[in-house]
Amino acid sequence: MTSAVEVRRSARRSRTVSAYREGDRTIVLIPARMSEAEERRWVGVMLEKLAAQENRRVLGDAELTERAERLSAQYFDGRARPASVRWVTNQNTRWGSCTPAEGSIRLSHRLQGMPEYVVDYVLVHELAHLLVPGHGPGFWRLLEAYPRTERARGYLEGVVSADRLPHLPAARGE
Ligand SMILES: [Zn+2]
Repeated sequence: MTSAVEVRRSARRSRTVSAYREGDRTIVLIPARMSEAEERRWVGVMLEKLAAQENRRVLGDAELTERAERLSAQYFDGRARPASVRWVTNQNTRWGSCTPAEGSIRLSHRLQGMPEYVVDYVLVHELAHLLVPGHGPGFWRLLEAYPRTERARGYLEGVVSADRLPHLPAARGE
């Protein structure tokens, strides 16, 4: 699918680039003083970014619970029994949390759109807490069952440090 792209230059904009769909057109807003080469580059970046946002499929809470049950079966012989798994939006400093007494797991909505193996890692991590509280050696031994633990932790650390960098232009808003 291709759609027309309309670039609008704005003198009020100094640094930010943003883009949104308007019917079948895509509007890209850029600072007035941007060069044509920069314009081409940014239009490409913003189109990819919009497409990525639109392709994100967010699992519902029921699917999330099913997925956690599957992961528990796969890595913990089904010993971790999640009663409920849901997304929460009030959790900005932690990726996941759990209440072992209730078997409930909560995942930060910030994980939505991240690679599947990263979301799975956070699920496996919280599932492991249903079996072992805290982050002692016994906990990490459990996590060794999940082959992408190190990779996922590296990914999440990267996200955290990127958050501390000066802001890159956002796809929407100013
Ligand atoms: Zn933990």
